[in-house]
Amino acid sequence: VFVVFEGGEGAGKSTQVTRLADKLLAEGRDVVVTREPGATDLGGRIRGLVLDHSEDGPSPRAEALLYAADRAHHVATLVRPALARGAVVISDRYVDSSLAYQGAGRTLPVQEISWLSSWATGGLKPDLVVLLDVDPGVGLGRVGARGAGADRLESESKAFHERVRYAFLDLAAADPKRYLVLDAARPTDEIAAAVAARLADLVGE
Ligand code: C5P
Repeated sequence: VFVVFEGGEGAGKSTQVTRLADKLLAEGRDVVVTREPGATDLGGRIRGLVLDHSEDGPSPRAEALLYAADRAHHVATLVRPALARGAVVISDRYVDSSLAYQGAGRTLPVQEISWLSSWATGGLKPDLVVLLDVDPGVGLGRVGARGAGADRLESESKAFHERVRYAFLDLAAADPKRYLVLDAARPTDEIAAAVAARLADLVGE
């Protein structure tokens, strides 16, 4: 079973990934927690390149290719082997992040990013995408308060983050069976309970 968490900055993905993983581990399941970009050694090096928002950072198409390279290697060396042995794989970000950030955010053609992503992954799709929907003003405020991602706050406009948000919501609306959309402003426990309930349907309890 392949579960992906998506959402904008400060949506609380990493908290919810941990909550779900802890619950499944307590049930005695084989669980692999991972993320994009940067879950593998090669990915770690790519992460350093793509998150360079200085003038020397990648152009939009180069950025899209770097995310695709990170994802291709991640899927081939980590995600597919784990799924093949029957693990529940939980990834913090996947293809939708590229459709939202590189596509809608950087205004590259979303169809092309979609094609690139399916080439990179060999067509591997998640069984469930949990979208933690957050108003960019609120999410960026949370990230800023933590001191992390402050450069992201300054390097992208409010409009960029609005495009990203609505791209995620559109993807979810187009394929409702595969998505669980939750308001990231809800209490952490409520979100965790909603995710756990949906997971129970998937992993068969
Ligand atoms: O999820 P995390 O905060 O680690 O993501 C790191 C950064 O990479 C974020 O600022 C996110 O906006 C960006 N990102 C991106 N395109 C992706 C995935 C992540 O711009 N496909």
